[in-house]
Amino acid sequence: MGDEGMTPAERIAVGRTKGFMPEAEGAALRDAGLRAGRIGPLLEVGSYCGLSAIHLGSAARAAGTVLITVDHHRGSEETQPGWAHHDPEVVDLRTGRTDTLPFLRRTLEDAGLEDVVIPVVGDSPTVARLVRGDLGLVFIDGGHALDIAMADYEAWAGHLAPGGLLVIHDVFEDPADGGQAPFEVWQRAVADGFIPESTTGSLRVLRRG
Ligand code: SAH
Ligand code: MG
Repeated sequence: MGDEGMTPAERIAVGRTKGFMPEAEGAALRDAGLRAGRIGPLLEVGSYCGLSAIHLGSAARAAGTVLITVDHHRGSEETQPGWAHHDPEVVDLRTGRTDTLPFLRRTLEDAGLEDVVIPVVGDSPTVARLVRGDLGLVFIDGGHALDIAMADYEAWAGHLAPGGLLVIHDVFEDPADGGQAPFEVWQRAVADGFIPESTTGSLRVLRRG
């Protein structure tokens, strides 16, 4: 476990990149990616500036597969001006709207992962309708409003190969610790037959039976 399998460039890029992924959770994510990459390609919903994509991309390279990372790069409700996770640096001064795509591109270049990570710019459920084939891992870390997070689950969970891993970020059982939507998605996945495998901080891994 940990980041010991990462290249020096990946490690440096982790230190430089904006995002929402504590080290232990990033290591758990990479671990899940390593195992799942033997089953099929990895898929991330919510690229933002590419922090979690370094962990998953590093795993994809080691496993001999790729990471597809989906984001419309316009930010979520919780990252808009006035909200807790807003960062004025990611605003396009020309329009006043969020644009994190240039940050993602830089991150992947710095990390040396441009040949392994495939960014897709678009709305997650819309992209999901175009995807065929069995994914090894689906990481859900997009919008955290209940309808958005549940739509991501419904759009992507069915694309997992048998034995593939579903990973959900920001799962908090206690409302005092954070929003409840990811926890509701986790509960729905369990009800649908996904088998809980591990919890690291707010990162939960489930396996498709
Ligand atoms: N995984 C990132 C954080 C993602 S933040 C990290 O580890 O740092 C959530 C991202 O989800 C935002 O960049 C936002 O633009 C994106 N997002 C929200 N709703 C979306 C949707 N419906 N389709 C595509 N991306 C979406
Ligand atoms: Mg998150």
